[in-house]
Amino acid sequence: MKALDDLTFDNRFARLGDGFSTHVLPEPIDAPRLVVASSAAMALLDLDPAVAQTPVFAELFGGHKLWAEAEPRAMVYSGHQFGSYNPQLGDGRGLLLGEVYNAAGEHWDLHLKGAGQTPYSRMGDGRAVLRSSIREFLASEALHALGIPSSRALCVIGSDTPVWREKQERAAMVLRLAPSHIRFGHFEYFYYTQKTELHQQLAEHVLKLHFPECQEQPEPYLAMFREIVERNAELIAKWQAYGFCHGVMNTDNMSILGITFDFGPFAFLDDFDAHFICNHSDHEGRYSFSNQVPIGQWNLSALAQALTPYISVESLRETLGLYLPLYQAHYLDLMRRRLGLTTAEDDDQKLVERLLQLMQNSGVDYTLFFRRLGDESAALAVARLRDDFVDREGFDAWADEYKARVEREGNASETQRRERMHAVNPLYILRNYLAQNAITAAESGDYSEVHRLHEVLSKPFEEQAGMEQYAQRPPDWGKHLEISCSS
Ligand code: AMP
Ligand code: MG
Repeated sequence: MKALDDLTFDNRFARLGDGFSTHVLPEPIDAPRLVVASSAAMALLDLDPAVAQTPVFAELFGGHKLWAEAEPRAMVYSGHQFGSYNPQLGDGRGLLLGEVYNAAGEHWDLHLKGAGQTPYSRMGDGRAVLRSSIREFLASEALHALGIPSSRALCVIGSDTPVWREKQERAAMVLRLAPSHIRFGHFEYFYYTQKTELHQQLAEHVLKLHFPECQEQPEPYLAMFREIVERNAELIAKWQAYGFCHGVMNTDNMSILGITFDFGPFAFLDDFDAHFICNHSDHEGRYSFSNQVPIGQWNLSALAQALTPYISVESLRETLGLYLPLYQAHYLDLMRRRLGLTTAEDDDQKLVERLLQLMQNSGVDYTLFFRRLGDESAALAVARLRDDFVDREGFDAWADEYKARVEREGNASETQRRERMHAVNPLYILRNYLAQNAITAAESGDYSEVHRLHEVLSKPFEEQAGMEQYAQRPPDWGKHLEISCSS
């Protein structure tokens, strides 16, 4: 276990030079204090969880202090926002503090979000508010616990610094961890500005550090792109299977590592709704829940365009063609598991689609349905769940098929079935209203609800004593919360 002073830095991205990022010091927030820390994320840096309670921890991650070996940099990138190219983006309110190695030889970017203005702030104040910092923290750690690849969050530091959004709020900082902060938009920036040498340098950097196994392939960049396509197909399959809506799938928010990245107005579905739009600025529903699948491919095409200097258009096209079949295979595999099925049959896709349509028509809670389906035998579970559906006949027809399908698998004991299904069907997810309750308390200085929610969500598949209130459908007020982009 390490103390804060013992971190080992090796700032490989900073060494790429000034063409890639600008040196900027964090701008401190007033009276920095710990809101919440993740001991699981601290373990990634070998940090002793006790150090989170020391004043220096809040000073470091509130922008007051810096390690001598840290090299804070604001990265430059661009990207397609809501389908249109924006030539000049970049870290407008976040800084890459440096890269740290842990004892296992893994390497983690330390990124401080809300660290003040940078050359890429445009009209923004460089700040993040407490509300959005808590949401990013909880979501990163909750996704990870669900087995969905995501950037991680070490801590949130709160402050007295006023920030103006729709109303006055308080500034906060969140320390984000990821093996890389390189986005699709990094490649787009160097491609569209025709900075050929820097583009080449970026491609080599990413290949060597993040896709080293692809170096052995006959066409290393093609192998790398293929890997990115595969990872994204798998990631988005997981989002769809677990009801996660990212909200702002702009190419500057897509990680080249295929992890969930740059949280904005994200949401987990409560009632199943394929057309759900979690970002209230997304008037056309470009990033609606079901559109995430084609948008994943659209984003990969934007990346492909930026890789045309290294890979033939034909190979790029062919590789892009892998996305949808890979997505479908992963998704179906996950949904079979969620239904407790261990074998594959031709009509499984239809079985899933029909269930989702019934859930959509009746506004059935997406998470609780699957959890309850595994509580008891298939026959008993569907009999109990029937009441949630308005179209009882439709559900009965589905349920008959489902029971027959389960029977064809052979007889697992009820206990085996429950264990298997509960291991993939969470009881607790980060519902918007739960996050909102924790935020309301935190805004008045009480962080205990953030801690409790973080704790519950760190074991989403395990029923936890005394935590029943976190496994309920939302109250009416909590169903249609509008989450704004102004974070
Ligand atoms: P986001 O929607 O958070 O991914 O941000 C899109 C772009 O706007 C990125 O370049 C951000 O750095 C920048 N940005 C967002 N909020 C702010 C802010 N409050 N101050 C400065 N830049 C910001
Ligand atoms: Mg972003």
